[in-house]
Amino acid sequence: MKAFVINEIKNLSVDMRPLESIELPEPKPEQDEIVIKVSACGVCHTELDEIEGRTPPPKFPVVPGHQIVGKVIHTGKYVKKFKVGSRVGIGWINSSCGNCEHCLQGNDNLCNEFKATGRDVNGGYAEFTKVKENYAFDIPGFLSDAEAAPLLCAGAIGYRSLRLTNLNNNQILGLTGFGASAHLVLKVAKYLYKDLKVFVFARSEKEREFAKELGADWTGDTDETPPEMINSIIDTTPVWKPIVKALEFLQPGGRLVINAIRKESIDKSELLNINYEKHLWMEKEIKSVANVASKDISEFLEVVSRLKIKPEVELYNLEDANIALVDLKERRIRGAKVLVIK
Ligand SMILES: [Zn+2]
Ligand SMILES: [Zn+2]
Repeated sequence: MKAFVINEIKNLSVDMRPLESIELPEPKPEQDEIVIKVSACGVCHTELDEIEGRTPPPKFPVVPGHQIVGKVIHTGKYVKKFKVGSRVGIGWINSSCGNCEHCLQGNDNLCNEFKATGRDVNGGYAEFTKVKENYAFDIPGFLSDAEAAPLLCAGAIGYRSLRLTNLNNNQILGLTGFGASAHLVLKVAKYLYKDLKVFVFARSEKEREFAKELGADWTGDTDETPPEMINSIIDTTPVWKPIVKALEFLQPGGRLVINAIRKESIDKSELLNINYEKHLWMEKEIKSVANVASKDISEFLEVVSRLKIKPEVELYNLEDANIALVDLKERRIRGAKVLVIK
């Protein structure tokens, strides 16, 4: 099968072709696995973190991609949930132990044996992939394959972030960074919380305009002061300055939720500007979001079915995977980027 792989850690500012196109054998299912013919795979900032070594794959080559939609073409002997022909999705969580305290409490994202699709095992930048049936999900019928793909990571982890904000109706949610995940959070938050105000901080004018189109109540640059202090802010940026600014704009008891698997180190010195009194005092909290639990994906897909939410997508052919990654790195963003596999 045709596949794009990460072969080594690379610097994307120097090397504009980070992935290599190769032929790999088609995957064969174990007893509890399904093999999927991939038709769409979302492009995520985490791929950049893998390629640039912030969350490196344990071995090379590996097929990246963890927002996969396709049809089941083979099933293992013990597979019950799906049949040949079922349309399924796969997200970042590929497997976990299933027995530890975290797994038993529905937080399989925190499991010691957590394995990630497209980093620890082969993912979806390929014609075929496979997964244990318990980590594959039904896709709501009203979505096209490409529309469903970004929901599996950007959407599901955005949903987890939103849950972790502890927000109530009538409060103010801040979003700093406005890419694939944040634009879905905005849509979902506006539906789930009555009278919620959403303030969006984004560097580019285009992203701010896009946020306004989707119903943001206020938009500004990352360090612009919002009209009111904010109850909870979700950060989806790859850097540090927005975090320091976000802490400044939080109300007493407010919470900053950092939805980023890794941060880049270019502006780490911004952290030295943290002033205890201004940024942390008054019981302000910081919480990270780790991976995604399987229940986040299934619950989020239910919310999506109820609310009929569709993400804005930008399509690329699989052959243009490197172009999509460079566009993402250079922040040419409008909605979510998706590779289409013919
Ligand atoms: Zn992702
Ligand atoms: Zn576990």
